[in-house]
Amino acid sequence: MLTSPNATSDVRYRCAERLRAATALLSPCRLCAHRCGVDRSRKPAGLCRASADAYLYAHSIDCGEEPSFAPSHLLYLSGCDLRCVFCIAEHASVDAHRGRPLTPELFRRLVEWGRARGARTLQWVGGDPTIHLPAILRVMAACDDLPPVVWKTAGHATVEALELLRGVVHAFVVDLKFGNAACARQLCGDANYVAVVRRNLTMLDDWGQTLVVRHLLMPGHLECCLVPTVAWLRENLPHVPFRLCTGYLPRWRARRDPQLGRLCRHDEIEQAVRIVRDSGLRPPEGLTFDGSRVA
Ligand code: SF4
Repeated sequence: MLTSPNATSDVRYRCAERLRAATALLSPCRLCAHRCGVDRSRKPAGLCRASADAYLYAHSIDCGEEPSFAPSHLLYLSGCDLRCVFCIAEHASVDAHRGRPLTPELFRRLVEWGRARGARTLQWVGGDPTIHLPAILRVMAACDDLPPVVWKTAGHATVEALELLRGVVHAFVVDLKFGNAACARQLCGDANYVAVVRRNLTMLDDWGQTLVVRHLLMPGHLECCLVPTVAWLRENLPHVPFRLCTGYLPRWRARRDPQLGRLCRHDEIEQAVRIVRDSGLRPPEGLTFDGSRVA
């Protein structure tokens, strides 16, 4: 069901109402769990090197990822608070000023563009959209024709930031990337990543938020990352749809990494699908565990 909380007037009202609180999170910055404490209101700062302005580096209609939200109009904002060595956004994730400035006028035209092409939902994607929360609320508050909004994220927000999205976002798609602190530190630069995302997922579920959790299978990280991720979900969020993503590509700095510089082997993928299937977790609506669509 793609109805509330995206009745346009309610969402617009909440965006406008929360804009001041979101802007306050820019200075000192505590939009993500790094809590850099820098002032982003005047110039780029912090680990993400983002300013107060958001930039759109691409947009497209997607029909293939999450069937329950498709067709979805994906808006890609540059900049990210994480530094995953295998990032498919590559330069756009580290250059937070790549693309066109996100303005209310640009956003209004994008919404029209997506609607004219049959998009049912609008999806904020990065990098990670959370570091741009104030800019996003600003453009949504100015739009009188909002479709249901999906927030695709690596889940590394602070509680304060996440609370500002409650009742604004129809659904969260959260990529839980790692299964332990050592892999998180080595591959994205934050040993606390797993603990932060697990806390946030629990909170979103407590709110009754529509939620999809995903995990990208990485070569050589089945036992250390997939297995603990599945075990934690089975124990804590067994009713939340889980998607195993098997399309890993050795992009960005992974090309030089001895373990990550290759595709997943067929036998690794088969084993991963078996682990997830045996776990009792359920795939998102319209998908099977190997990622293909239900006929
Ligand atoms: S969004 Fe995160 S990484 Fe960027 S400045 Fe704020 S706390 Fe630091």
